[in-house]
Amino acid sequence: MEITLLIKNANQVVTSRGASEKPLSGTGQKALTVIEDGAVAVCGETIALVGSTAEVLDKIQVDDSTKVLDASGKVVLPGLVDPHTHVVFGGSREHELALKLQGVPYLEILARGGGILSSVEATRAASKEELIAGGIKSCQQMLAQGTTTAEAKSGYGLTTKAEIKTLEAIKAVDRAQPVDLIPTFLGAHAVPKEYKENPDGYLDVVIKDMLPQVVEKNLARYCDVFCEEGIFSVEQSRRVLMAARNLGLGLKMHADEISPLGGSELAAELGAVSADHLLVISDQGIENMAAAGVIGVILPGTTFYLCEDHYAPARKMIEAGVPVALATDFNPGSSPNNNLQLIVNIACLYLRMTPPEVINAITINAAHAIGRSEQVGSLEEGKMADLALFAAPNYDYLAYRYGTNLISTVIKKGKIVVEV
Ligand SMILES: [Zn+2]
Repeated sequence: MEITLLIKNANQVVTSRGASEKPLSGTGQKALTVIEDGAVAVCGETIALVGSTAEVLDKIQVDDSTKVLDASGKVVLPGLVDPHTHVVFGGSREHELALKLQGVPYLEILARGGGILSSVEATRAASKEELIAGGIKSCQQMLAQGTTTAEAKSGYGLTTKAEIKTLEAIKAVDRAQPVDLIPTFLGAHAVPKEYKENPDGYLDVVIKDMLPQVVEKNLARYCDVFCEEGIFSVEQSRRVLMAARNLGLGLKMHADEISPLGGSELAAELGAVSADHLLVISDQGIENMAAAGVIGVILPGTTFYLCEDHYAPARKMIEAGVPVALATDFNPGSSPNNNLQLIVNIACLYLRMTPPEVINAITINAAHAIGRSEQVGSLEEGKMADLALFAAPNYDYLAYRYGTNLISTVIKKGKIVVEV
């Protein structure tokens, strides 16, 4: 086997070996394999060998064509996986910050035509090329911060034409740069103003017009719905998700963010891969998600940015056996951040998750949450060679420092794509 790339002498190679089949939960959420003075050998696009530097050097042949990286003083993690983003959108919403500082609640900003609806206007007005250019720029930022795979939702179009345009833009962004994007159709993200008095009429369009076209054009792997008071009820969400499931899409939900409507219970009932947000999840919801194996994708950056004092009950969820993943929720309104390193800090400080739990939540469990656990999320022989090297003496350091990008090198499919 020809070794094309060798990373050696790393202070730590940190990975969750053996977790590709099932997400980590309960006490398993913190299970890490940490190899001191570690090495990773890469053959083409895949990982050939992971072990201590001595072991790996003993087993492989290095020749002139092998690129060798000395990772002394660095920590090597699997390339980070961001399992909940709205990375393709038009416009930006910095003007809403002033309203927020005056204490205007999000649902009121939405009722005034701001919030999601102003991003909808901007996304409808944007050309596909403009959406693609914005998406590429954001993905480059993500890559530079260690993210090598991400989920990407539509949901700022809210017409068949604009939703298809967004999903086609996501596909083009995926092809144009190294970050792999897993597309999710989120036509039921908000009720567009044309259907303000008739949300069920809008859902008819989502179900009868958008979904079949999205599936026929093969533009999405998952379908998501924003189940929330004033947006879509549990019954309405069920309608959309069942239609999507019948067409072969996997299911995701924005659930129990502001009001505990029972979205997490619905996610468990329908066998969704994940339920996301979960700030006000009920005990029953936690129990049902644990029993059904639904991954709880927590988005603490959004809670932080909305200045809320109540975070998702991550400890309770982990203790009850819900596998937890973390994401940025990168979007133009409630979370204009695409850096998972900041999520590491917020999750430790405000969700009270430990660094090993957090690392699994942004690598292997995040990969499970988007159906990519066989390919990415851990450093194991045969998996895709996606790696993030941090200028840090150990993995605790990633949770300790904040606000500085600690990335030194990012490798995607065996190629160095970022070098600081
Ligand atoms: Zn979201």
